Amino acid sequence: IIAIRDLRKMYGSFCALSGINLDVAEGEVVVLLGPSGSGKSTLIRCINLLETYDSGTVTVDDVAVRPGPNLAAVRSEVGMVFQSFNLFPHMTVLRNVALAPIRVRKLAPKAAEERAMELLTRVGIAEQAGKFPGQLSGGQQQRVAIARALAMEPKILLFDEPTSALDPEMVGEVLDVMQSLARTGVTMVVVTHEMGFARRVADRVIFMERGQIVEEAKPDAFFSAPREERARAFLQAVL
Ligand code: ATP
Ligand code: MG
Repeated sequence: IIAIRDLRKMYGSFCALSGINLDVAEGEVVVLLGPSGSGKSTLIRCINLLETYDSGTVTVDDVAVRPGPNLAAVRSEVGMVFQSFNLFPHMTVLRNVALAPIRVRKLAPKAAEERAMELLTRVGIAEQAGKFPGQLSGGQQQRVAIARALAMEPKILLFDEPTSALDPEMVGEVLDVMQSLARTGVTMVVVTHEMGFARRVADRVIFMERGQIVEEAKPDAFFSAPREERARAFLQAVL
């Protein structure tokens, strides 16, 4: 469902990504690991063109992801959840989730809010629907952000360190929601430092360093016996 070929991304003269080739199958859960600055965020942001790239191709569902008339269509298929929840602070939780379907999909407000309630129920925070984001814990806000991404019924969900800004006791509730989403067949690309999640939930682990994919493997193989020395050193440092 995602095909990336020879992707290259420069920031000035600094090469943030080079020679990236990656295919993600429909329903697959791929976790991106790697040291800080290795290009993980840049790579997932290229999938929905939050970041432009210099050469190579990215296709989603056989549609090229590049600036132009197809971009809105690609973006509505690809939801994203960020480390900093990026909710609208002046809108209720329910409104945050219902907004894009009303604005973009032209759904009637009542229908969009009913659907938003279902999604909030699914992520376990229906009782918070009338509150504002600032009145919620970090874990709750991140679950709202996930519900908001789901409201557009994306085929692909991108997560960039969704639990990194959370207090430790909130991490589990967000990972649990992500794990149950993974079982619904949505395609997920997840940047995370949560190795337990990667091992439990990923179908495949991609290890990046210095803008390149260094190793890709099934999680059991990767965590028990990484082939690359650099991956081994990384795991020793984080586990
Ligand atoms: P982290 O784990 O710290 O989030 P990352 O793997 O997500 O790291 P990226 O954010 O993708 O890394 O950054 C890759 C490299 O590109 C880094 O060296 C970073 O300094 C550089 N970089 C990222 N964004 C920019 C920018 N807007 N301008 C210049 N350099 C950038
Ligand atoms: Mg990053």
